[in-house]
Amino acid sequence: MQKIEQYNFSGKKAFVRVDFNVPLDENFNITDDTRIRAALPTLRKILADGGNPIIGSHLGRPKGVADKYSLRHILGRVAQLLGAEVLFADDCVGEETKAKIAALKPGQALLLENLRFYAEEEGKPRGLAEDASDEAKNAAKKAVKASQEEFTAKLASYADAYVNDAFGTAHRAHASTALIAKYFDAGDKMFGFLMEKEVQAVQKILKDINRPFTAIMGGSKVSSKIEIIENLLGKVDNLIITGGMTYTFTKAQGGKIGNSICEDDKLCLALDLLDKAKAKGVNIVLATDAKIADSFSNDAKTGFCAVDNIPDGWEGLDIGPETEKLYAGVIKQSKTILWNGPTGVFEFDNFTHGSRAVGEAIVEATAAGAFSLVGGGDSVACVNKFGLAEGVSYVSTGGGALLEAIEGKTLPGIAAIEENN
Ligand code: AMP
Repeated sequence: MQKIEQYNFSGKKAFVRVDFNVPLDENFNITDDTRIRAALPTLRKILADGGNPIIGSHLGRPKGVADKYSLRHILGRVAQLLGAEVLFADDCVGEETKAKIAALKPGQALLLENLRFYAEEEGKPRGLAEDASDEAKNAAKKAVKASQEEFTAKLASYADAYVNDAFGTAHRAHASTALIAKYFDAGDKMFGFLMEKEVQAVQKILKDINRPFTAIMGGSKVSSKIEIIENLLGKVDNLIITGGMTYTFTKAQGGKIGNSICEDDKLCLALDLLDKAKAKGVNIVLATDAKIADSFSNDAKTGFCAVDNIPDGWEGLDIGPETEKLYAGVIKQSKTILWNGPTGVFEFDNFTHGSRAVGEAIVEATAAGAFSLVGGGDSVACVNKFGLAEGVSYVSTGGGALLEAIEGKTLPGIAAIEENN
């Protein structure tokens, strides 16, 4: 497979799909530029070789052209971080854009306008009335699929090489993330540096496992994590199920959970998961105590109690000190660690303690030689909030993409590069 390190971009135009879907405030200031920074090594390599990156990305979920989602808002920061001249194309395709690309001088990059201004990027019809007939829906789908080929071919025609550095969208079979790859010879398409690192990190969790392997799955709902939990049961030695999910398990086992978050329609599923874990010899670790609050608020009155004996009118918003110790003990004995999802409502400062304790235990285990992967928006926000990112082996930029990869699914963005390679 072509490696970016070995490729010489000299005199070449490279279409680079990045994930610059950064958060913006109401004045279009970037509030977190991690995703731009993450793509810099790839863009710098192309420029240093004497090539021109043609940078393509989406921003938000526009339903058509909308200034709110224009990538022009981030142009200044991209140029500043890259330390190079970055021109802008108001349209990601078209004659003017083609001319701009042809006129690029050495050292210059071009940022294309939001790819999702075109329905063809995602290949999904837009503007259909909700009550449209199935016939109309099918016709619209067919039409957008047909014009998607044309759109993809146009994007591909502007470049000599294709680089995919957008792990965050690798689970989407969109024009610029997957379909475009077939227009390039095997030797001219490759992962960017970020994508390479992400793929390697996932491989370490999926294939190259040092045991014991512990996964810490937190977050609010069992329903959103069920597939990954089931998949992990075949791989891990220890599975810490934490966060809001805890209380569905506690209630299913007959505990008293007060007003804690719970999915009543998932109680059987929770028991079923516990049975499956037992059958597979996986050690499921659940909280024993909780930090409780008398309302869902940072300023609520708080206390600690057994996780299965929460008084009426109170709810568990984080784990308690006994559980922190329990989790830390398991984590520190582990050689491979995956963390997805907080132990509590970490957005409230008074309920961050458990998530911080988990983060610190992971850092300690990593210092002792474990491989640790943190992924999914909220756990990444946690390690950043607590200043622990440096102490873990890898912080993934992928949310949905990471979870799908760990679920064992083939990601279209990865397959498109690996196929025929
Ligand atoms: P998810 O999006 O499923 O990964 O869940 C992350 C969210 O779960 C965060 O916003 C947390 O605030 C929330 N969460 C974690 N623990 C609890 C809890 N005990 N009660 C309510 N929400 C929680």
